[in-house]
This record gives sequence, structure tokens and C-alpha cells, in this order.
Amino acid sequence: MPEIKTELLFKLTLEVPPILVLGETPYGNRRIAQVVGGSFEGPKLKGRVLNREKINKSIDGLYFICFQCKKICHNLDEGWMEEAGTLNNYCGTCAKAKGIRSSAA
Ligand SMILES: [Zn+2]
Repeated sequence: MPEIKTELLFKLTLEVPPILVLGETPYGNRRIAQVVGGSFEGPKLKGRVLNREKINKSIDGLYFICFQCKKICHNLDEGWMEEAGTLNNYCGTCAKAKGIRSSAA
């Protein structure tokens, strides 16, 4: 069997408030864990995990990784579209190719 080589991409630190316990449901015991922020840092990649509720729409811009082309994009240069339902982020080019029309910015 070939050896799988791995390397550190980044360390992720998340801000997680106390877990909400819903208890027993028809689908089992359910809990909700929210991520309200955080950061990540590695040899080639560093950034913040944004709290979607606290993003100030007037800030100068955001960097994100396009879900489709995996390119690091800036919303003011490449556009920023969010797919409804999945909430995946796409650059303008990939969003247009996929027919995504809702904008996160
Ligand atoms: Zn893209």
C-alpha cells in the first residue's frame, strides 16, 4: 500500500459557546454547536473565521476560498456569491457558470 504523505495546512481555533442540548428527537439525541468566530494559521494560510451574523457589510472587503475553483478570492475583485441552501462561497466566474444569483456581499 502506498504511503500517504500529509503536511500541516493550518491550525484552527474556533469560538464555540455552550452547546445547546435539544434532547431526544425522532432522529435521536440532538445538540446544536454554534461557531461564532475563530482563526486559522498555517505555513501558507492565515485568516479569521467570521461570524456570519456580525459581518459588517460596509467593510472594505473579505477574502474567501471559492468552493468550486479553490482560488483565494477578494470579494471586491472576483465577486462573492453565496449559494442558497448550502451557503457555499463562489467567485463571480464560478457562480455565473453554476447559475447562482444570490449575493452574500
Ligand atoms: Zn471560483
